[in-house]
Amino acid sequence: MKQSWIELIKGDITQLHVDAIVNAANTSLMGGGGVDGAIHRAGGPAILEECRKIVARQGGCKTGDAVITTGGSLPAKFVIHTVGPVWKGGNSQEAEKLADCYRSSLNLAVEYQCKTIAFPNISTGVYGFPKDKAAEIAVKAVSEFISETDEIHKVTFVCFDQENFLYLSNFQEVRRQID
Ligand code: ADP
Repeated sequence: MKQSWIELIKGDITQLHVDAIVNAANTSLMGGGGVDGAIHRAGGPAILEECRKIVARQGGCKTGDAVITTGGSLPAKFVIHTVGPVWKGGNSQEAEKLADCYRSSLNLAVEYQCKTIAFPNISTGVYGFPKDKAAEIAVKAVSEFISETDEIHKVTFVCFDQENFLYLSNFQEVRRQID
């Protein structure tokens, strides 16, 4: 029996009470602007401390990969840090790498028994990925993943801007929160 579903909301991902939120990090894992900065600010120093340990162990995080830390003082238990591709015009495996971000994050979520997980719109900020293409890739990667496992109950796409929200709301796989 398939129980999992995809929710779409507008808002600030740092406020969500879910098992794990995903951070659109960079390869250094040392924080940055956008959603990365917001997560570290809201979650406190414990997150960066664990990132430093990961860097010492494996030297950062490759594009498309993901690592997991505590959620620190966030309502979410864990933060899954993934590194989205920088948009370079579309011929540098950007689409595949973006799909990898969603898959690696969901694999870690399953490994850490997270049932509810929230994603920002990875790569659609300073990394410049076209939002319509990113939405399609996100929905496809997530719906394929959750159709093959019973471990994840709910995936939430958290949009900070209207454009991402509108693109994602075009997909029938996504249930939009009525506000
Ligand atoms: P990237 O470098 O992967 O493009 P950004 O952080 O610049 O990462 O942007 C990714 C997306 O996260 C953008 O759509 C941006 O609007 C959104 N964003 C920024 N702050 C937040 C937040 N607090 N909650 C949810 N999404 C956010």
